[in-house]
Amino acid sequence: MTLPPDDFDPPHGTAIEIEPGLRRVLAPNPSPMTYRGTNTYLLGTRDLAVIDPGPAIPAHLDAILAAVMPGQRISHIVVTHTHMDHSPLAAELSARCGAPVLAFGGPETGRSAVMSDLARAGLAGGGEGIDQSFRPDQTVADGEVIQGDDWTLEVIHTPGHLGNHIALGWGDACFTADHVMGWASSLVSPPDGDLTDFMASCRRLQTRNWRVFHPGHGAPVTTPAERLEWLIGHRLSREAAILAALADGPQTARALAERIYTETPAALLGAAERNVFAHLVDLTSQNRAHSQGLLAASAVFARND
Ligand SMILES: [Zn+2]
Repeated sequence: MTLPPDDFDPPHGTAIEIEPGLRRVLAPNPSPMTYRGTNTYLLGTRDLAVIDPGPAIPAHLDAILAAVMPGQRISHIVVTHTHMDHSPLAAELSARCGAPVLAFGGPETGRSAVMSDLARAGLAGGGEGIDQSFRPDQTVADGEVIQGDDWTLEVIHTPGHLGNHIALGWGDACFTADHVMGWASSLVSPPDGDLTDFMASCRRLQTRNWRVFHPGHGAPVTTPAERLEWLIGHRLSREAAILAALADGPQTARALAERIYTETPAALLGAAERNVFAHLVDLTSQNRAHSQGLLAASAVFARND
């Protein structure tokens, strides 16, 4: 995937004010999956919400605690989803500061029925790293409002990247975590990711007039409506390419990936295959394709027309 030019490169471990009442600390975990690292947000001026403490790196824990100024305390720890780069530090941060950890649920909460079936049938995750031991102190439901002393966060369940993924509305800003980012399209890898849910979550965010998205990785997205439209269009063009390739006859996700991702290095074809499979499951739900035999990552898929 070609990334857009982006000069986002803040120092790790330093709290930077990005708008009044909101600071961001970049965790020292850069990688091809996490870009410059995980964005941990500190919201508020007295009672602070820490949004996504990040990976279990002691230096990052120290950086978060050091950002708490005199007269401030951490009152809430909010986790957007249970990937290893977002949630593991929550327990230790909570032990240090006494604030409860809030999240939609544990690692498999919110998983769609079709993905639960695939997982039960033995489809393993694609290696994105699930925080299996994560348990929130308090679960938060879709539509719930988390109240701080000078801020409120609205929980918006946005499954797709992961079943338990939430976005957090803060006025006309939204913390979109890994659902919408500016530097890359979101990873949707079965059985943790579900593309049908992902598209529905994108369309749901489209119903509001957002000013800015603060993502889990990378710079703020200052044109949220355009970005959502691009993300949906990107997925629809992939879907069209898969349907066009299937017009030549039934094929596996692997064969389709080799055909569609012609510029992808062999080492990344496994991820491309997962992506195609995510689309094939979605096309199956839409009744536009079906698997010959049981729905599985290695199945042969055919168009319904
Ligand atoms: Zn993630």
